[in-house]
Amino acid sequence: MKRDHCAFCGRPEAKVPMLIDGLEASICSDCANSAYEIVTEETRSKNKEKFDLDIKDLPKPKEIKEFLDGYVIGQDTAKKFLSVAVYNHYKRIGQNSGKDDVEIEKSNIILVGRTGTGKTLLAKTIAKLLNVPFTIVDATVLTEAGYVGEDIESLLTRLLQASDYNVKAAERGIVFIDEIDKIARKGDNPSITRDVSGEGVQQGLLKLLEGSVVNVPPQGGRKHPDQKMIPVDTKNILFVCGGAFDGIERKIGNRLNTKAVGYAAAKNTDSVDMENLLQYIAPQDLKSFGLIPEIIGRLPVLTHLDPLDKDALRRILTEPNNAITKQYKKLFEIDNVKLNYDTDALDYIVDKAVEFKLGARGLRSLMETIMMEAMFEIPSSEQKTLKVSKPMAEKQLSGINKTKLLASE
Ligand code: ADP
Repeated sequence: MKRDHCAFCGRPEAKVPMLIDGLEASICSDCANSAYEIVTEETRSKNKEKFDLDIKDLPKPKEIKEFLDGYVIGQDTAKKFLSVAVYNHYKRIGQNSGKDDVEIEKSNIILVGRTGTGKTLLAKTIAKLLNVPFTIVDATVLTEAGYVGEDIESLLTRLLQASDYNVKAAERGIVFIDEIDKIARKGDNPSITRDVSGEGVQQGLLKLLEGSVVNVPPQGGRKHPDQKMIPVDTKNILFVCGGAFDGIERKIGNRLNTKAVGYAAAKNTDSVDMENLLQYIAPQDLKSFGLIPEIIGRLPVLTHLDPLDKDALRRILTEPNNAITKQYKKLFEIDNVKLNYDTDALDYIVDKAVEFKLGARGLRSLMETIMMEAMFEIPSSEQKTLKVSKPMAEKQLSGINKTKLLASE
């Protein structure tokens, strides 16, 4: 059916630039344009609400830590440092708009701890609590194949994407830079030629960390001349860096030893916990590892994560709000199947994770392997309960080796 006027503004076809026919009515191009603008504006303000952190409602450090406790097992020192740093960071954003002379400096954070001990999880959980845009980026993309990797600014592309391109929200977001240790300068001598894999990248990163307006390519990748850039001010972006810094224990040990001169110092080294040297980490260790002093200076909050012992792994399996065992329970519940675990089955899984040296990450692959058969069979059966017993776990894991488990990650 052909209609001859716009159902929105009522103008006849002859008076409008273009009339678009729908099933029941027509709309003119002017009204279509206005409708588009309304939709864009609405979406924008919804996005704004989506990331609306009210500084007045900012959780106190103790509340932040309690929230973290719900998701992350152990790591008390890191949790405390993080809670305080994050609290101060957002308090600072609220303050700096004032006319006061005292400008509180940004407290970017660096977490040092073995892989799979909860660095990413901590940062992710904080972002969840605060409802701010959050992204994880890998420092290695900056160095892969030298400078053919990505430009530093593209680290922020993902943050823009995480905030649905709401630049204001992104400018108060959190960026987790993983594997920061991989951009350390190799060797202790500052190189004469341009060191693309280390110092050059660190210099670039410095610009982001200290707070400046940078042009971010909206789609990431390398910049090219005719790409439209989005200016992003990094002044209020909180950077949390994480790294395993393999071998840094040796540097910490050396430092503690060289200081151990004289009677008092000797007494001190007696109480050094050699099993967990990371707890003594200090900025100068990062420097000996190959981070440039300027970078270290821009990451004033330095803390460590403890290695996860058997006890911690056992708790990780069952205690966090979204513990793996709880996740499987829920999965089966959807099919009306009641899932239970025998204690010795859980102990066995932890033992296997320790034996394979898989850490917390391995718990998931082990569980996945154990539950696979049941997840395949039970939905098509009449079975309404399932008990995960040690014999069942042993059966499912028989013949499995570490390589296979890691492949299923
Ligand atoms: P990384 O230190 O390498 O960043 P992640 O935070 O990515 O380690 O940890 C990998 C996974 O292991 C997490 O997703 C989580 O399931 C589990 N995990 C690691 N450490 C802990 C912890 N302390 N408490 C609870 N779960 C943990």
